[in-house]
Amino acid sequence: RAELIQITTGAKEFDNILEGGIETGSITEIYGEFRSGKSQICHTLCVTCQLPLDQGGGEGKALYIDAEGTFRPQRLLQIAEKYGLNGQDVLDNVAYARAYNTDHQMKLLVEAASMMAETRFALMVVDSSTALYRTDYSGRGELAARQVHLAKFLRGCQKIADEFGIAVVITNQVVAQVDGSAMFNGPQHKPIGGNIIAHASTTRLSVRKGRGEERVIKVVASPCLAEQEARFQITNEGAVD
Ligand code: ADP
Repeated sequence: RAELIQITTGAKEFDNILEGGIETGSITEIYGEFRSGKSQICHTLCVTCQLPLDQGGGEGKALYIDAEGTFRPQRLLQIAEKYGLNGQDVLDNVAYARAYNTDHQMKLLVEAASMMAETRFALMVVDSSTALYRTDYSGRGELAARQVHLAKFLRGCQKIADEFGIAVVITNQVVAQVDGSAMFNGPQHKPIGGNIIAHASTTRLSVRKGRGEERVIKVVASPCLAEQEARFQITNEGAVD
């Protein structure tokens, strides 16, 4: 794994369970409930990916595809300060695109590729990758069409990861699944997108709230990492120990 660039999450224990950080060249999915900290992790990575390689960075720019209006430039400035980076430089190195529907989200990948051919990017975030699929394909009979579109989008993400050697981080919400066992255990929370996302993402991480601002991140699936948990905090400075 030495040849792969890994981008620090900002938190030691979190990096440790990833054996270094978020890897380039593949898709990492982070799923969890609303307010579990997915966007905050993404904001942190938008800054750390700009750091030099020997500081856990990727020496490249970030692209933030925002499907829910969660992007906060102010947050990037606060995180930049922690890493001793110039705030304006950090902002200039984060390209931002709001996605308005699933077709638009797909088209943004074409624009992403042309930008990445021009300058070195280290990271692409899609927050949340599934939100627009829930609204564009809300009917029961639309599930198959939704999965086909989503699979195509994720293949596009993988292609970009391969072609430009960047890390692709996609977030995903969870939905309560009420089945027979719910009577005994309460509803089970499962990530959206089912098999399609599970197969497309090389590394799957789940995040949940702990006490206060503490969060628990877990490696759920990975070809090479143990299924371990780590604790970290969310503060003004993003993900920290
Ligand atoms: P998700 O993307 O999973 O819905 P977020 O990444 O938006 O969740 O997490 C928001 C949570 O982060 C808040 O509920 C709060 O607990 C925590 N948090 C801690 N410090 C801050 C901060 N300075 N700004 C925003 N959220 C913060």
